[in-house]
Amino acid sequence: MGPPTHRSARQIHRQHQKPLQHKKPPARPQKRAKETPYFAVFEPFQIIYCQSCKDLVPTSSIAIGIHLQGPCYSMPPGPKLDKAALQARALLTTTEDDRNMIRRRGELNKLAAGADMILPEVSWLRPAVNGYFCLLCGQPRRNRVVLREHMRRVHDGENDMWGTTLVQSFRNAGADWLTFRVRRRG
Ligand SMILES: [Zn+2]
Ligand SMILES: [Zn+2]
Repeated sequence: MGPPTHRSARQIHRQHQKPLQHKKPPARPQKRAKETPYFAVFEPFQIIYCQSCKDLVPTSSIAIGIHLQGPCYSMPPGPKLDKAALQARALLTTTEDDRNMIRRRGELNKLAAGADMILPEVSWLRPAVNGYFCLLCGQPRRNRVVLREHMRRVHDGENDMWGTTLVQSFRNAGADWLTFRVRRRG
């Protein structure tokens, strides 16, 4: 960097005017950023998704780095990629690294089963579809065959205790990965 440049009279004037022109903004609680240029947090489930393809991305800087190298951002390995991956990982400070995606999926499915987890339809995901949910544990699925499979496996072969519901899903690696209940907005 060179020596400090001389400020123009106009800039100085503007600086002096600033306190007069703008009242101090009202004190707001400090809110941590929930997105980077590439990824963002979906808060109801505390998951990280790609801002480009909207896929859920595992909560680990390695997995995020792999996604950055993929078709969404085609970022070559190097310090820029490492920084972007660490920034995205830092969006979720209280969530452990996803090392076991099967366990993680189980945890998220449990969350999605909660009666309070009927969210307003998310406008930037694929539109809501008519799906099904388990009346015994609340878990939603897009597909009745898949829900029946859940009932057979988890509820001892019970296969008649289901209701219908609107659902949306996050994908990961081309497959529906997390399905949750929604209601239409408005
Ligand atoms: Zn993506
Ligand atoms: Zn169930």
